[in-house]
Amino acid sequence: MDLEYENGLRLCSFFKNYFNCTDKCNTKKYCSNCCDFYYINLKQIKKLCDSEKLKDSHCFQLLFGFKKGSFKSEDKLFNFRNYHITYNQWSTLLSFLENGIKYLKILPNEKILQLTETCNKFGGIIYFDKQFKLYLNELNKPNLNKIKKPDEDINNIYKWKIVLDHDLTNFYKNFTDYNYSGHSEKITSITTVFYFKKLV
Ligand SMILES: [Zn+2]
Repeated sequence: MDLEYENGLRLCSFFKNYFNCTDKCNTKKYCSNCCDFYYINLKQIKKLCDSEKLKDSHCFQLLFGFKKGSFKSEDKLFNFRNYHITYNQWSTLLSFLENGIKYLKILPNEKILQLTETCNKFGGIIYFDKQFKLYLNELNKPNLNKIKKPDEDINNIYKWKIVLDHDLTNFYKNFTDYNYSGHSEKITSITTVFYFKKLV
């Protein structure tokens, strides 16, 4: 596959979320009911395939023709339409591959489900499975609430602020993104400090 040709940009056929086309339509080059055309950047995809993120995703690489496989000739472009993948779903996959777990955290659940489906259509993507597992682990981490002081925060997942009692009102006003950790200490007979944290 010549990645230099047209700078790696290729026009691809995407699915348009219209399931009512007949099987015959599959063989047509262009069908305005179920096809959308968008550019993909093969150089970007190849770079991802060479990175840690996709190096184990052999099926994905075969489908894009980066590895010689028995079921795909090298120069034939992947047809998203035939796999019922919309441009939107493809973009979501790319954003995920570029950003990992950070992107999962801002995706609504239904989009994550869709992303799972898209990954499955590419024969599964191990990087997604791993990041998704991490994401679920973080969601169900009851232990996080047990971290009440900086010295308990061994993985440095929080930013900390220690606030004097008479500064509390001001603090609440100016640092709305911090939460009380549940820990306070009396440092003099009249002064108490409170510990606040937020995720880094
Ligand atoms: Zn059609």
